[in-house]
Amino acid sequence: MKAQNGYVVLSTVMGIIFMLYFSMILQTVPELSGQAPAENKTGNKIIMHTHSSLNVTVNGDFLLVPNGVGINSTLWNEHSLDKFGTERKITTFGMITPAMSPLHTHDSSGLIHVESTEYRNYTLGDFLNIWGLPLEGRKVNLITDGNSTENYANHTLKGMEKMILKIED
Ligand SMILES: [Zn+2]
Repeated sequence: MKAQNGYVVLSTVMGIIFMLYFSMILQTVPELSGQAPAENKTGNKIIMHTHSSLNVTVNGDFLLVPNGVGINSTLWNEHSLDKFGTERKITTFGMITPAMSPLHTHDSSGLIHVESTEYRNYTLGDFLNIWGLPLEGRKVNLITDGNSTENYANHTLKGMEKMILKIED
C-alpha cells in the first residue's frame, strides 16, 4: 500500500513536470514563429574582425569605457555605420543575439571590437560618436603605442593597437 502511494505521488509529480514542459513549449513556439530571424540588411557576413584597446582619462582620472557601446540603445548614439554591422538574430534554440554596430564593446575593459561586413577604415571618432562621449570644447590628446597623435578623431583604428585618450577640461 505504501509503495502504491509512492507510485501515485511520483506519477502526479511527473505529470505536473510534463504539463509545465509542454505549456512552456506551446508558449515559446508561437512567439518564435511570430518573430522571423532578422537577416543582416545587406545579407553580408562579418568579414573584418579586429580589436583595439582604448584607455580614457579625464583630468587624469581613469574613465571606464562602458560595456555595450554600439549594442545598448543608450550607448548607441550614431547610426550611419549600422549597415556594416549585424542585425538582431534569434537562433534555433531561441537565443537572441542583439543588433550590433560594426564598432562595439562586449565588456568594460576598453577593448573595441571592429566587426564589419566590409573591409573599410574606421576611426576613433566613429567609435566616440557611437558611444556619445561629449568632447566639444575639451582639450583631447591621443597617444597610440606611445606616440602622440595630432587628430584623435581621424585616427584609423588598427588591430592590436593600444590607445590612450587624455581629455582635459
Ligand atoms: Zn570581437
